[in-house]
Amino acid sequence: MNAITLPSQRAYRIVDHTYDVVVVGAGGAGLRATLGMGAAGLKTACVTKVFPTRSHTVAAQGGIGAALGNMGEDDWRWHMYDTVKGSDWLGDQDAIEYMCREAIPAVYELEHFGVPFSRTEDGRIYQRPFGGHMKEYGKAPAMRACAAADRTGHAILHTLYQQSLKHEAEFFVEYFALDLIMDDDGACRGVVAWNLEDGTIHRFRAALTVLATGGYGRAYFSCTSAHTCTGDGNAMVLRAGLPLQDMEFVQFHPTGIYGAGCLITEGARGEGGYLTNSEGERFMERYAPTAKDLASRDVVSRSMTIEIREGRGCGPHKDHVLLHLEHLGADLLAERLPGISETAKIFSGVDVTREPIPVLPTVHYNMGGIPTNYRTEVITHGPDGDRVVPGLMAVGEAACVSVHGANRLGTNSLLDLVVFGRAAAHRAAEIVKPGQSQPPLPARAGERALDRLDRTRHAKGGTNTGEIRLAMQRTMQDHAAVFRTSASLAEGVEKMRANWRHMDDLRVNDRSLIWNSDLVEALELDNLMGNAMTTIVSAEARHESRGAHAHEDYPERDDENWMKHTLAWCDETGQVRLDYRGVTLTTLTNEVQSFPPKARVY
Ligand code: FAD
Repeated sequence: MNAITLPSQRAYRIVDHTYDVVVVGAGGAGLRATLGMGAAGLKTACVTKVFPTRSHTVAAQGGIGAALGNMGEDDWRWHMYDTVKGSDWLGDQDAIEYMCREAIPAVYELEHFGVPFSRTEDGRIYQRPFGGHMKEYGKAPAMRACAAADRTGHAILHTLYQQSLKHEAEFFVEYFALDLIMDDDGACRGVVAWNLEDGTIHRFRAALTVLATGGYGRAYFSCTSAHTCTGDGNAMVLRAGLPLQDMEFVQFHPTGIYGAGCLITEGARGEGGYLTNSEGERFMERYAPTAKDLASRDVVSRSMTIEIREGRGCGPHKDHVLLHLEHLGADLLAERLPGISETAKIFSGVDVTREPIPVLPTVHYNMGGIPTNYRTEVITHGPDGDRVVPGLMAVGEAACVSVHGANRLGTNSLLDLVVFGRAAAHRAAEIVKPGQSQPPLPARAGERALDRLDRTRHAKGGTNTGEIRLAMQRTMQDHAAVFRTSASLAEGVEKMRANWRHMDDLRVNDRSLIWNSDLVEALELDNLMGNAMTTIVSAEARHESRGAHAHEDYPERDDENWMKHTLAWCDETGQVRLDYRGVTLTTLTNEVQSFPPKARVY
């Protein structure tokens, strides 16, 4: 064991490791990457702050998209069209083509790994309709969501974890990754992590580091995400001087349970559920005459918000709408939607076989994140264009490939995890040889990470983490929500700057390095700040409406000026610098033509 003594005279015990690959995160994306790396013979470490099967992926309910055609005709090109349209033409079409084509082998592979999918009468994988999934380039709803009842994420995560163990990946569980180790040439050389159990610090040297740290839903007050979704990997990228992409695009899921935020899967509407306002009207028929309740999420969330704003909300405060499932019958609900029946009972006291569930749009998914190409290599951008960052990959919700563009279609996240987790392993097998020699780590590698840990640990201000976090969450909820205006965004940016300054007054009460949740939450808050700041500044700058970014002062999509990805860098003082890069409108192969932009109607 080595030791690093900081200028503060405090010493930290260091344990060094060398691997071919280190994966940070053990959700669906991290596990699919880990097992693929292991299968390719690469010595792989997987570092995770929670036990793998407690990762947020376990909560995914409705399904994973793939044009298997088990329940009617389907084609991966229709899936690709729906995804491009869902992204409001901000998604990169080469990556979308890759994802939709590879969806089919990736899902069969999951089946062979042992995922217990629900079955059709003749034994094939059961598929249900989901928002925005259509046949024949938008003509009629398609049944494309491959489901394991309403516990699809749970089934996938457990199966992937078992497969990873089979391939001898080494797990470092309840290790909190602090920061990347970057060298002077801008290459990533590994990661520094804190072992929560014994307080030791671990430097993982690796030819490749893969960030699979999930989203940052917890930057908002009301979200469907787990408490662990704090955008840690995104923040590490910002601290490494690299940009995040398209952070202004935050998805609100239409059916969060009113007052609790827990999700009722879109699969519930896929099975025939529908929304009504206080007048009992199925209002989605007015907003999306073809897809109705199964229009894309941004469209349904906005329609609900308009109904509430115009006084047709339900309940004493007229502040939510109702989701009806009672007409589906107790048998179907028990077979296809057992989990959400239970959730509705616990969190809203509703028996779904008899009464509707009160629902409200709730933050659900981050389309933005760490920019990568379709091979999952992290890219940065400068005057000479895009450049791959050597040694660094990103997958899953932390990444922005970009397949979801301005709005993600339901079931395309689980798909993104397995397709790009797999792609990362394929790429790693091409560029890393098992056991290849690696140069020594840069002198004093990890010292900056330890400095940050040490500063936070000894923060002696007057405000605790919870207070600053609440102020940040309220700022984001009030100023970067379903509908946005210039004035509200500008005010939100000022409030976020104040929240950032407030971090100087942070107080951490527990100084221990062992099982110190006070310190973990403070570090997570610090990470959330970079995510929140880049989100709101990027949103303020985008003067158009596209997908999840609905700007009331600029209500139209503006392809001429804004069909481009936002890149946001954020320094230690919270100053954000923006730049833009083009959207890829070309396909990877000639098996499909690209889809030129057009109006997005459902
Ligand atoms: P996660 O599953 O969040 O995993 C992140 C991992 O990173 C964890 O293992 C964590 O321990 C680790 N980590 C993070 N920070 C650190 C750190 N500092 N140090 C060490 N480890 C760290 N999508 C669909 O496609 N279909 C669905 O039906 C669906 N249903 C959903 C239902 C709900 C309720 C919600 C909230 C989301 C749903 N989604 C669905 C979205 C989908 O579940 C997520 O986008 C996806 O699971 C994210 O997976 P991930 O692997 O990127 O991250």
